[in-house]
Amino acid sequence: MGSFDHLFKVLVVGDSSVGKTSLLNRYVHDVFGKEYKMTMGGQERFTSMTRLYYKQASACIIMFDLTNADSFKNCQMWKNDLDNKVTLQNGDFVPCILLANKCDLFPWAVTKEQIDRFSKENNFIGWTETSVKENKNINESMRIIIERMMETRETGHSSVPQGDYINIKGLQDPGSGCC
Ligand code: GDP
Ligand code: MG
Repeated sequence: MGSFDHLFKVLVVGDSSVGKTSLLNRYVHDVFGKEYKMTMGGQERFTSMTRLYYKQASACIIMFDLTNADSFKNCQMWKNDLDNKVTLQNGDFVPCILLANKCDLFPWAVTKEQIDRFSKENNFIGWTETSVKENKNINESMRIIIERMMETRETGHSSVPQGDYINIKGLQDPGSGCC
């Protein structure tokens, strides 16, 4: 028995300029910068996607900009749009992680409590703050998504989403921890 690759389709959605293209560049090419052509819509707004775009997705990343309250508010629309248009083959919702991007910038326009409540109420796997710019929590978030997709593939079901804050520090170094 040899090893084999899995092919998964992972969606990345969210308002314009929250950092979606940067995330892909960071994760795939490990670069951050302005060398690429920005996908500019001009405005911060929600635009619903076609069913075709969502089709056969194994997981979804919904991203907002921590310094932009509207981009957070619109995550509700992005999540509803996703769940209305696609499910896994077994009928479960597509596992979805919420990324609060640009955590290197201040001040934040939303509180951790708001994000936590929203994440729990809307059946996200969980949420965490990220900085694509500083490469913070990017690989770890992707790893969580990949593990979830593998679990779904192997068991036929994904575990019930809790929506909790994903404590990356704890994940990276489970053995340590003060107090
Ligand atoms: P998209 O429209 O969602 O694809 O957003 P882009 O990836 O084009 O990013 C929009 C702008 O935000 C660009 O100028 C990026 O350099 C910047 N950006 C993306 N991620 C971060 C981040 O984590 N921190 C900061 N400070 N800027 C970011
Ligand atoms: Mg883009």
